[in-house]
Order: sequence, then C-alpha cells, then structure tokens
Amino acid sequence: MRRKMAAGNWKMNGTQVSLAELAAMQGMSKGTVEVLICPPATLIYAGAGLKTGIAIGAQDCHVAEGGAHTGDISAPMLADAGATYVITGHSERRQDHGETDADVLAKTEAAWAAGLKVILCIGESLEQREDGSTLDVLAAQLKGSVPEGSTGANLVIAYEPIWAIGTGKVPSTQQITEVHRFLRTELASRFGDEVAGAMRLLYGGSVKASNAAEIFAVADVDGALVGGASLKAADFMPIVSALN
Ligand code: PGA
Repeated sequence: MRRKMAAGNWKMNGTQVSLAELAAMQGMSKGTVEVLICPPATLIYAGAGLKTGIAIGAQDCHVAEGGAHTGDISAPMLADAGATYVITGHSERRQDHGETDADVLAKTEAAWAAGLKVILCIGESLEQREDGSTLDVLAAQLKGSVPEGSTGANLVIAYEPIWAIGTGKVPSTQQITEVHRFLRTELASRFGDEVAGAMRLLYGGSVKASNAAEIFAVADVDGALVGGASLKAADFMPIVSALN
C-alpha cells in the first residue's frame, strides 16, 4: 500500500525561530503517515539536526553538481545538508524563474543522482481550467517533466492547480477525483500498473485543517502538499491527523 504523505512547503518563509515549529511537530511522522517539511534552504541543516523524525526537503535544486552558478544550490549540497527530498516544478518556480518541463525533468534526474527523492509539481492555470484544457495540460506536463525510471520510491507527484495556491479556493472533490484518476491512468500507461499503483499523488492548493479530511477521502489522493498551513505546527498537525 502507498504510504500517506503530508508535505509542508514553507516557501520563502522562516528564520531560526521557525525551528520551534518544526520541533513541535516531532513524532508526527510515523506508521502509515510520512511527514515532510521543506523549509527555506537556510534552515535545512538545522532542521535536519533537530532529529524530529520528520523528513526535511528542499524547494528547488540546480541541475549541475557544482560549479560557476552564483546563488544556486546543487542536489548533492542539499543531501549533504540533510535533505532527503526536493520539490521540483513548483508553479512559483515555473512562473518566477521560467522553468520549463525540460528543466523540471533535468532537476528531477539531478536530484535522484544525489540520492534525493522528488516531489514533482504540475497544475493548470485558471485560464486553462476555464477553457477545458486541464487534462491536456497535465498530460503534457507529465510527459515533459516526469523522467524515465520513475518509481513509487523516487517520485511523488503533486497536483497543484495554480488558481488554488494561496487563494483559499479549492477544486471540488469531483474535480480532484477526475484529475487524480486521470494522473494514475496516465502514469500506468507509461510505467505500468505496478509502478503507477505505488506512486503517491498529492493534492496541493489551499489545504487546511477544515478541508483536509474531505480532500483525503478522494480515492487517488495520497496526501497533500501544504503551503501556508504548514508554517505553524498548530495548523499543520490537524492536517497530518486527518490522514490517519
Ligand atoms: P498553499 O500553497 O497551501 O498556501 O495554497 C500550496 C503550495 O504552493 O504548495
């Protein structure tokens, strides 16, 4: 069976004092539920050092192992700092840094080469949702950004409709059901039923304590990628509990 996952993406938020929130989440990653926090890169080393049992991830990595790339951080450096996961393809990276599907694919492979697991994000814009092209967009993103060699052990897919991120708007359970079933089917046609059946599919976009249980009840939803509601232990812990 697929292990459930609650992943927190702190984005560009958090300083040393935020480590207290991470510390307060101690012990939440257990049994059938895996908990991951992706703090800003500046907190990865200290976050991993807290030994909370919560996996620590990064929010991005460079494709190269090292070299003349001022300001960037490579996957081996993230692994060295204590990260075990990295997020690739988040819509904010795609938007703010012009990352393409090909970039996301290359970053995912770079992460694997460093021994990191990947949470690869895909999602449609509001315009695409409204013009009815959502499934075509997602199929193209999967095709362009998910590498050969993907397995349930090295890859988690996060479906994050761009219009639901940080907006308080959430798709209907019917819409989430349709998309997640579609993603599982697409993955199965490329990688086979066994691999697709082992791969975790997270929903992301305005997940909070009050809507988590309803979202997690959707058949092909294996957990959530949570932004705003992962910054405080008091907000995140009820979401994790809803997975149990
Ligand atoms: P949100 O962000 O939960 O604040 O909507 C989700 C994300 O961007 O991963």
